[in-house]
Amino acid sequence: MKNIILSVIIIFSAITFNSCDSEKKQNKSPEYVLVIHGGAGRILKENISPEKEKQYILKLSEALASGAEILKNGGPSLDAVETAINILEDSPLFNAGKGAVFTEKGENEMDASIMDGRTLNAGAVAGVKTIKNPISAARKVMTNSKHVLLGGEGAEEFAAAVGLEIVEPAYFYTPEKWERFKKAKQKLQSKEKTEKHGTVGAVALDKHGNLAAGTSTGGMTMKMFGRIGDSPIIGAGTYANNNTCAVSATGHGEYFIRNVVAYDISALMEYKKWNLEKASDFVINEKLKSQNGSGGVITVDKDGNISMPFNTEGMFRGYINSNGEMRVLLYK
Ligand code: ASP
Repeated sequence: MKNIILSVIIIFSAITFNSCDSEKKQNKSPEYVLVIHGGAGRILKENISPEKEKQYILKLSEALASGAEILKNGGPSLDAVETAINILEDSPLFNAGKGAVFTEKGENEMDASIMDGRTLNAGAVAGVKTIKNPISAARKVMTNSKHVLLGGEGAEEFAAAVGLEIVEPAYFYTPEKWERFKKAKQKLQSKEKTEKHGTVGAVALDKHGNLAAGTSTGGMTMKMFGRIGDSPIIGAGTYANNNTCAVSATGHGEYFIRNVVAYDISALMEYKKWNLEKASDFVINEKLKSQNGSGGVITVDKDGNISMPFNTEGMFRGYINSNGEMRVLLYK
């Protein structure tokens, strides 16, 4: 823990967080890479106080440092992905776990999924209300059940049976997301456009060449009771394949489901032999954009290249690798 805090402090002093993504190309293929996101949307410098900005940067840095520690020690990409996402789930800052947004009924219903690029195994939970860390439940579905996706009460019962932490629904209440819900409700009545984005995700390449991806979310503010987004849908919000890449998405879920976004990026690489940057940029900035589908993805390929395209004003995102590079970015 001490180590992690120390590295966060060191890293924090070296972070740049307000520049664009087309930063330096790595000269040497990294041995391991971790990329994370904390949601895309109307993330503008003028809307975020310096204090809040600092909190986002610190929490994203902590998630990166903790995941990187695992990868550095030769641990599996799946562990790095789950650990990084757990940290973001436990923070009220993000729309996942503790900070999940509210449905039209004023409740929290969470979705999550995880995929192993080595085996193509996957696990997911949808519409859960009492599992403290939905990404860990998704991983247990992958490893301890013969299914891929469990929903609602069945998923909650399963999570309890495998020893995961169950909490009262009230645990997920945060004043900030409640305010957002009330505002969204008012705006809906006056037919104004509401702000709906925010989700967390991670993709990683480990020292053994294995890719993994995971995504966890509270969904979209004021979503219908029972609505399930792209985050727990393998191929839409999450995908990993050692032959191509690992992808975690965030954005307007319905568009990501209809366009099978995460798998589409992998398929463009597999069948058309496109590189990671071209494939992910095409899907987010051409295909989705032409349909007004807003959001972004974080991706890493089998050679450790990364890309983080988004078609919104901003996306909380960051990466760290074995070449000693680390960045946390919020804006365009
Ligand atoms: N994709 C998530 C959903 O539609 C929301 C988000 O990423 O902001 O549930």
